[in-house]
Amino acid sequence: MVIRTQPPRLPPLLDFLFYSAKRRAAEKIERRSSDVLRQLVQFVGSEIPFYREHWRSAGVNLAEFRGTPDLPSLPFTDKNLIVGAGAAAIGATAQDEVVVMSTSGTSGRAIHVQRTRIEMRQMRRGLLRYLFCNGLRPWHRVVTFASPWLHTRRGAFIQRFCKTSFIAADADFDAQIKTLQNYAGTGKPAEALIGQTGGIYLLARELLRRGLTIPLRAVAPTGTTVMAEMRRAMREAFQTDPIDLYGAIELGPVAWQCRRGNYHVDIDRVIVEIVDDQGRPLPRGKFGQVVCTALYAAHMPFIRYRLLDISALSTRRCDCGLTLPLMEPIQGRINDFLPTLRGDLVSPHFFFHLFDATGKSPVKEWRLIQPDLRNLVYEYVPEADFDPGAFELGMQRIRDRMGPECALRTQRVDAVPMGATGKRTCIVSMLRPAIVSASQSWVGERLDSALAGDGATYHFNMDVYANAVQAAPVAVAGVNQ
Ligand SMILES: [Zn+2]
Repeated sequence: MVIRTQPPRLPPLLDFLFYSAKRRAAEKIERRSSDVLRQLVQFVGSEIPFYREHWRSAGVNLAEFRGTPDLPSLPFTDKNLIVGAGAAAIGATAQDEVVVMSTSGTSGRAIHVQRTRIEMRQMRRGLLRYLFCNGLRPWHRVVTFASPWLHTRRGAFIQRFCKTSFIAADADFDAQIKTLQNYAGTGKPAEALIGQTGGIYLLARELLRRGLTIPLRAVAPTGTTVMAEMRRAMREAFQTDPIDLYGAIELGPVAWQCRRGNYHVDIDRVIVEIVDDQGRPLPRGKFGQVVCTALYAAHMPFIRYRLLDISALSTRRCDCGLTLPLMEPIQGRINDFLPTLRGDLVSPHFFFHLFDATGKSPVKEWRLIQPDLRNLVYEYVPEADFDPGAFELGMQRIRDRMGPECALRTQRVDAVPMGATGKRTCIVSMLRPAIVSASQSWVGERLDSALAGDGATYHFNMDVYANAVQAAPVAVAGVNQ
């Protein structure tokens, strides 16, 4: 068999946007994905040194690789392997032809993802399809909620595609509401809202507190998992169900919600497998760790890439008209907000960006444990070129944010332990938040039971949280992971 040395071609734009997701039979989409996968694996196996060696040492015979059914024969990759491989995990495309996207990531270690311009286009098509299939059109009046994400290239794309008006990061609620009610001074209300989950959630709460609703066609929260209470508040305030997008910077969009609330997998762009803690593929309906293969990425490939998320391939079918297969919502990626003794909540994104100002993360892996409201433990594995000054700056940011009544202890470790399911959790709170209904939590009983020492339940005082947002926007203005 001839080994291809060209990256595979994906379907053309119009086919991808308007046909693949809706008209084509599921079996046909999967067959085509399998074909693309075969071409990708043969290309990568001959062109990318890291994969060539990784697969050779696992005894993979590339000439016999047929596609999706043979995917489990390839060994896993993960962030550490790819980052560790450096240039060997990347193709020989000229540097001025690639775009670099960086993230500190939910598992702590920074990764710099390189995409060619064609691959960027493929990734954007995923976003475009997600918005399009949820009823958004370029002429709709879209408000984008302040988020650094929107100032990145991907955000710039959305701005080009959509008529967009901005809510600034430091805008108060009055200004936010005005932007939605009077789109770009036209006197017409906005039709859709895209932006960081925490910001949209707080705005929804404020609307409800004021007894207001602003009906929208679509609300698209980005960055963190939309928790049940957040969903409820957004649905009530904006009269529409928020549509969630599951993705990762390494892969782009992976799955997204349709109007029925089901998560459809972008199977013609990304193949999703679910494996158990031994790495064995699990049947539909069984929960395990998410492993993804990006079909469109040949320059810096992610093949059988382990994410630290827990989900299942779904056994259900959706009657929304999309033929893309379903997966269950992500279970293990709840980016817990940490409560402070003052009664406010700190976004997990705050902790993922501790070292941004220093330019280089001094830690390879980390875990923050909150045993109770007065204590925090920061466990970390130092990078080889550990910079104590940068580390101390990051720790000082935690102390400033959590308040003087909270003691922070740092602990150097050899490795951050995995959870029982193989999931590595960066933020572990021993407190169990019971989020109360929208009307109650404004009253702000604040942490009565937690302060009383039982540690079992407490009430979020969202007024305090909102003030904290104004004082330290970085706590909620996190970028997507
Ligand atoms: Zn559907």
